[in-house]
Amino acid sequence: MKALVWNAAEQMDWEERDRPAPQGNEALIRIEAVGICGSEIEGYLGHNSLRKPPLIMGHEFCGIVEEVGDVKNESWMNKKIVVNPLLFCGQCDRCKKGLTQLCEQRKIIGIHQPGAFADWAVAPVEALVEVPVGLNSVRAALAEPLACSLRATRRAMERHPFANVVVFGAGGIGLLCAMTAKLLGAAKVMIVDTNPERLKMCKSIGLTHTAHAREDRLEERTRETFGSKGVDVVIDAAGFQPTREAAVKLLNAGGTLMNIGLGIDETLLPINYTIRQEIEILGSFCYSRQDFQDAVDLLIAGKITETGWTEIRPLAEGFQAFAHLVAGEVTSGKIVLKP
Ligand SMILES: [Zn+2]
Ligand SMILES: [Zn+2]
Repeated sequence: MKALVWNAAEQMDWEERDRPAPQGNEALIRIEAVGICGSEIEGYLGHNSLRKPPLIMGHEFCGIVEEVGDVKNESWMNKKIVVNPLLFCGQCDRCKKGLTQLCEQRKIIGIHQPGAFADWAVAPVEALVEVPVGLNSVRAALAEPLACSLRATRRAMERHPFANVVVFGAGGIGLLCAMTAKLLGAAKVMIVDTNPERLKMCKSIGLTHTAHAREDRLEERTRETFGSKGVDVVIDAAGFQPTREAAVKLLNAGGTLMNIGLGIDETLLPINYTIRQEIEILGSFCYSRQDFQDAVDLLIAGKITETGWTEIRPLAEGFQAFAHLVAGEVTSGKIVLKP
């Protein structure tokens, strides 16, 4: 089979590889669509210590089960599926608390083991979620990033029904957070980015309130947009010093900052101010099984779609797609690759 292999920082090759053979509880999946995740751009640049070359990345995928390792899993044969790539042990204290996304032994397909930037991939049957045959594969491949966004957004809005919400970052995760916030009943949602083309794209898909992070005066723009009700929730899908700092300043007293973007680690914030204003600062990582299933259900119901903000490219040209992403030459919110 052909595979897009990450061999070194900023180096990917289109290689011939053996088709993987499913063992024990695994299934062999013929890949139909696989999204490029923001974290994979960092991985491609060599900024992520978990990803070790040579590696077949790809953890946002949809495909068809073509083989199973054990006859007892035969009922999965020929099913259209998406894969929940977060593998957990089910035994540790965190798993027992239901926090499987924080499992001490968590492993992600496409990071710790070969992923879906290839014609075929294997995954344990426990990770498979069936979808209708008629569901568009590109849409189905959004299940994973939507699950991340959905978990972050619903936790951020838990204490703030009908909140005004600001989202930093108009990449895949930011866009999906903004769409989810609307579904969850946000009064108004404003999306902030530094790329004017992306902001134009946001408007075209109904995210009408936008701001340019550098050109617009953010505090003025939020006052214009939200009036005296202000902002109760900020979701930061970028994660840099300026976005985190701006988020704290924009929030109403008692508001919630949800961090999902992993831009940088150490950040200087006015913690005494957050104490006196009772500003809550949260983080969100991956998803529970329920979050993943909810994401799949939203896609099946057509409440969130791929239309207007994603683009499809051939997997064989995946290397160029990564290069374009790094160069900032991609306007769409997500590239989905097709073998
Ligand atoms: Zn991801
Ligand atoms: Zn565990």
